[in-house]
Amino acid sequence: MTIRTRLAVQFLALASLIMGTAFVVIYLLSSAYRAGEFQDRMRDRGTNAAKLLIQVEEVDEALLLKIERNSTVRLPEETIRIYDHHDSLIFHLGGVEPPRTPHALLDRVRLEDEVSSVHGLQEELAFTFNDQYDRFVVIVTGRDIFGRSKLRNLGQVLFFTFLTGILLTFLVARFYAQRALSPVKRLVAELQSIGAADLSRRVQVDNDRDELAQLASSFNELLCRLQEAFQAQKNFIANASHEMRTPLTTISGQIDVLLLRDRSGEEYHTVLVSVLEDMHTLNRLADRLLLLAQAETQGTVSTFAPVRMDEVVWSARAELLKAEPGHACLVSIEEVEDEADLMVNGNEMLLRSLIFNLIENACKYAPDHTAHVALKGSGPVVRIAVSDHGPGISEHDLGRIFEPFYRATNTSGAKGHGIGLSLALRIAQLHDGGIKVRSVSGEGTRFTVRLPKAG
Ligand code: ADP
Repeated sequence: MTIRTRLAVQFLALASLIMGTAFVVIYLLSSAYRAGEFQDRMRDRGTNAAKLLIQVEEVDEALLLKIERNSTVRLPEETIRIYDHHDSLIFHLGGVEPPRTPHALLDRVRLEDEVSSVHGLQEELAFTFNDQYDRFVVIVTGRDIFGRSKLRNLGQVLFFTFLTGILLTFLVARFYAQRALSPVKRLVAELQSIGAADLSRRVQVDNDRDELAQLASSFNELLCRLQEAFQAQKNFIANASHEMRTPLTTISGQIDVLLLRDRSGEEYHTVLVSVLEDMHTLNRLADRLLLLAQAETQGTVSTFAPVRMDEVVWSARAELLKAEPGHACLVSIEEVEDEADLMVNGNEMLLRSLIFNLIENACKYAPDHTAHVALKGSGPVVRIAVSDHGPGISEHDLGRIFEPFYRATNTSGAKGHGIGLSLALRIAQLHDGGIKVRSVSGEGTRFTVRLPKAG
């Protein structure tokens, strides 16, 4: 069911409830009013007859019958009976045979003063009439043909008004719901027409700042973010394939040249060493891309376990020195009281890669090929500062070095792909931490990693 129909139906149900209740109340009040009015008329007729018969000496039963039969205010199908205190019928008007009145009813009337009842369409009112010497019971019956017909007409009018009312309410509610929802329909149509290929399109935002305008601008903001994410993904793939193609082209070029003619064993050896180096580069790139993918996956968080950061630093250092024996890495541990000060909840392999990238960069870019690592464990975080006395990074490059595949101008022939720092930052963020960098051109650079302590 569409929102338009649902709104119209809800509105209809509400209107039906209100109108139905009002009409039922009107009908019941009218019915009670009619019954009361007819009882008043019956009471007047009975009292009048009793007064004439009992209090006017010249009027006897026969005369009263004549008077009442010719009365212009007689009720339809009217009967009047008057009983004395012996329960003897002293007057009867209407019908040939007076109906038998149970003594119990007469007693009840004397007790309660007035008793009314309805038998089918016939209504009856019994009440007491007192004079100086006796207490009489007057019973008047009649049919309120006119009053009931008026009530029936009222009921029909109310019923048809109700039906017309709810039909009109439904149509009006649908019309208004349609009008109110037409901007939503337009928004849906606009959104449906936006495909993955044209994320630069935006939905129309009306000037008034109502909820729908807010919804439209929220969609536009979402589209902006999606467009940026798509663009970043595209750039990433283009950069990754470019980085892979370079060593692959070098490898195939070297092999092509090698195969042009017969070579000496030494020449084959030289080319194979160079190819092997390119293969290592490719391997490292593939490893980092894989790690980056892993760091982007939130599911990795479920594999987190307590890790000692000093052990991570030592093993990253050992790994680097094994690959680059000419590099140096000096480690100092400060502000640590016990091992809990160095414990971090995380993925050991990713954390090692984070530290490895920072140490490797420091050694790679500093002319003395030396990295200084300082581990601090005071406060709620573990801080690992990796510094060097290298060329430093310019103000301009500092804002971009964490972007994937970005390489600053200071690289001066140092090998790399520009993904080490973006990987390091992503790993730190995955562990609810961060990386800060301070660099002075010509003096050196310091990267400080902050990771929340375990527990
Ligand atoms: P790569 O080192 O492979 O080029 P990174 O993502 O690790 O890629 O680093 C990005 C860039 O940041 C580097 O190209 C380099 O210009 C700069 N950089 C990183 N670490 C240092 C450092 N310790 N000293 C100077 N420049 C650095």
